[in-house]
Amino acid sequence: MSVSTSTALGPADAVPDPPRQVDVVIVGARCAGAPLATLLARAGRTVALVDRAERIGNTLSSHIMQADTLRFLDRLGVLPDVLATGAPPFVAADTRLEDFHGLLRYPGATHGPGGGICVRRQMLDPLLLVAARRAGVQPVLGAKVTDLLIGDGRVTGVRLRTASGPVEIAAKLVVGADGRQSTVARLVGARRYHVVPGTRAYHWSYFADATPAGPPTFVFHRWGDQFVLGAPTDSGLYLVGTAHTLPVGGPAGHRCTAEDFLADATSCPPVAQALAGAQRVAGIFGLTGFDGYFRDGAGPGWVLIGDAGHFKDPAAGRGIGDAFRQVDALAATLPGVLDGSARDLDGATAAFARWRDREFLAHYWVGSDLGRSGEIPTFLPEIVRRMTDRGRGADLLAVLSHDAQPTTVLSPGRAVGAVGRLLAGGRVPRRRVLAEFGAAVGDQFRRARLVRRPRHEAATAPTVVAGASTEGCR
Ligand SMILES: Cc1cc2nc3c(=O)[nH]c(=O)nc-3n(C[C@H](O)[C@H](O)[C@H](O)COP(=O)(O)OP(=O)(O)OC[C@H]3O[C@@H](n4cnc5c(N)ncnc54)[C@H](O)[C@@H]3O)c2cc1C
Repeated sequence: MSVSTSTALGPADAVPDPPRQVDVVIVGARCAGAPLATLLARAGRTVALVDRAERIGNTLSSHIMQADTLRFLDRLGVLPDVLATGAPPFVAADTRLEDFHGLLRYPGATHGPGGGICVRRQMLDPLLLVAARRAGVQPVLGAKVTDLLIGDGRVTGVRLRTASGPVEIAAKLVVGADGRQSTVARLVGARRYHVVPGTRAYHWSYFADATPAGPPTFVFHRWGDQFVLGAPTDSGLYLVGTAHTLPVGGPAGHRCTAEDFLADATSCPPVAQALAGAQRVAGIFGLTGFDGYFRDGAGPGWVLIGDAGHFKDPAAGRGIGDAFRQVDALAATLPGVLDGSARDLDGATAAFARWRDREFLAHYWVGSDLGRSGEIPTFLPEIVRRMTDRGRGADLLAVLSHDAQPTTVLSPGRAVGAVGRLLAGGRVPRRRVLAEFGAAVGDQFRRARLVRRPRHEAATAPTVVAGASTEGCR
């Protein structure tokens, strides 16, 4: 079986003559950009959706999506097409966190579109683009944004490099949905803050003829320094992902051979069972050397969404869903202010940026903690064990799907209770439990201080237009 199967749109879909004046230019036509274009077009706004890629196909991602993401796809009207790729919605999450192991049932699987799903990006992203086209947007592909148009201290449009020469598009608002290396962010001088360097390498690949046990299940096993995930994906394939700590000195000396990858993958029993008799039908994709961050989110005439504005450790599998949440928020406010004053528009995008920080910060820290090297503090699996014993496993899945804030589910009260039980039980050395808890409390204080006084990196280019302040983003 080939894994190149894709619904990718190509150069034939490119617009030969892009519009020169629109309400909104969106740079980047994937998870963040394409649905925003769809929703704005449905609200009657004119949109130019541009991407430097000549075809929207695969991109680096292990593409696990949780229940909220499925609900968004449903509202966008593409869920039937997504399900037609053959990707089965998950019924349960086979979860291991250190010495805790249990099967968590997704509540959404019985009365909603499903508990989660895993669809390769060369299948998903083109479907998002098709939805935009159905809404009347004509994607401008093969068009790289090289500069911003500036007037009266505001961003007023973009300059594109296309096969037929440079093109300028004027707009009331430029949306940077152009990913981690965002050109828009660089050109406006948006600075990163709350930066957390990744300490692990992620690798993943696809297998045919896999035989996972039971109904469609997301396997998420995190123990010691090991991290293995598995999930049925589209086209009858099975996704396997692994992560391990980078050598001291960073990604340069890092290698992951096919043997290393398979050994890591099959150290997880349910994945080993799924792969017995399966064949790997794709190369091994990898990501080494990445940072988690927030970026200044908005300024005069510009706003960032998706990875352009915020990236987190892939361990939490939240990038796509978080992009969709940001799309929802922005699409709800923009139509009401695009015809108003520049001040109203900039006020709305600045409010969006503050909301983004409030909404995603707690999840960001959880993702960073899950992704970092080494064992998870013992009180966390203890919280999870107690909650599942009491039938509250769905609350944990609600954190993964961003339907609940981590601070309410993994609450200080539950942490203190777990520490008390561990100290009383004597299973884990007392000194270790207390040291881990002390470190976690220290992290909380350090992070609270960072929120009050974010540490911004220097902008990578001279600031063209000052970014919105993050002060008061609590
Ligand atoms: C290793 C890894 C694993 C991941 N696993 C998961 C997971 O399991 N679940 C999950 O939900 N998320 C996951 N993510 C995150 C997820 O892939 C991203 O959050 C998501 O792709 C963000 O979408 P986006 O539209 O913001 O940016 P992108 O997908 O990066 O798209 C940006 C687009 O902008 C275009 N562009 C860039 N510069 C320009 C320019 N100058 N002019 C015109 N166009 C431009 C690019 O061509 C690209 O098409 C993972 C990420 C990584 C790296």
